[in-house]
Amino acid sequence: MKTQSAVLIEKSRPTPYAKSQPLVIEELELNAPGHGEVLVQLAAAGLCHSDLSVINGTRLWPLPLVMGHEASGIVRETGPGVDDLQAGDHVVFSFVPTCGQCEMCLRGRPAICERGLAANRAGTLLSGECRFCRTDGTMVKHHVGVSGFSQFTVAARGSLVKIEKDVPLEIAVLFGCAIVTGVGAVLNTAKVEAGSSVAVFGMGGVGLSTIMGAKAAGAWPIIAVDPLEHKLELAKKCGATHTVKGGHDDTVKVIRDLTRGGVETAFEVVGSEKVIADAYAATRRMGKTVAIGLPHPDRKLTIPALNLVAEERILMGSYMGTSVPQRDIPRFLNMYRAGLLPVELLKSRELQLGQINEGFDALDRGEVARQVVRF
Ligand SMILES: [Zn+2]
Ligand SMILES: [Zn+2]
Repeated sequence: MKTQSAVLIEKSRPTPYAKSQPLVIEELELNAPGHGEVLVQLAAAGLCHSDLSVINGTRLWPLPLVMGHEASGIVRETGPGVDDLQAGDHVVFSFVPTCGQCEMCLRGRPAICERGLAANRAGTLLSGECRFCRTDGTMVKHHVGVSGFSQFTVAARGSLVKIEKDVPLEIAVLFGCAIVTGVGAVLNTAKVEAGSSVAVFGMGGVGLSTIMGAKAAGAWPIIAVDPLEHKLELAKKCGATHTVKGGHDDTVKVIRDLTRGGVETAFEVVGSEKVIADAYAATRRMGKTVAIGLPHPDRKLTIPALNLVAEERILMGSYMGTSVPQRDIPRFLNMYRAGLLPVELLKSRELQLGQINEGFDALDRGEVARQVVRF
């Protein structure tokens, strides 16, 4: 079948992207789902900072690539061996397909599934196959098994989480990356306790979701840190009790003074080794620092080694919120139904697929939280 898809043809093109057009809307051939695969018609797909990192060359994925890793849609056809989904089911995509058999899956950590991450690095589905191709027969790669910036896509069953139909797909889409990553980091990775103090560095879609997760967990105070005033205002609506201007020489000192010695848990949602070090410095004795943002692969982190030991500090990474997507996406949707996660606040605006380069310019300039492409 034919599908209109946004294809990244070259990385590191200059901004503004509206002019350099790194993403091109192409009509591709989409082959039928193979064994264990599903054809999905996309309903919505979010523009995330990790996409920007692929476009600007910080994250290296094979090209050409049908982009998009935060998506929701409706099942249209199932391949052989898929007996627990049927046409018409609503799904949210998980950006790590899970095999269910590797060591990490067996240890209950499917978000770092070894086979899933290997397939993602290769730009294929879990089967090792590509289902997108151009009319000249050349393959176009899958972005982390999702490829959400496309009218239709084929995904492994292990990339899909079935959801109930009461939550609109243009809201449910945000549970695929922003919410599962941010809320998961609070509840699964850090296990934030009610009444404990939290600081969150970086108020993009995932950072704001982390604020929502901290509020739902009953944390206090919840300190939002960002250089941009309008993002701090949005953070207050999402549940931040205090705001601190980020990127200043005294950012850490202000947080330490506010909490009389530092926060119990600090989250870094920027992807900068310098900000991870600041987040670490903002924690108190026995404090936890949770790194969520993805830094450039060449970067090295420097922190004082002595207080790690002598003050029993904890430094942790959190990928996809340490989640079990099949368990946590429905669980976090229940938190939304319970009124604990004001997810609508994340959505800045909706776009058409053809506006995608302009959308990434707006994200790059820090003007927006989440923009969502509607199909
Ligand atoms: Zn993302
Ligand atoms: Zn696995």
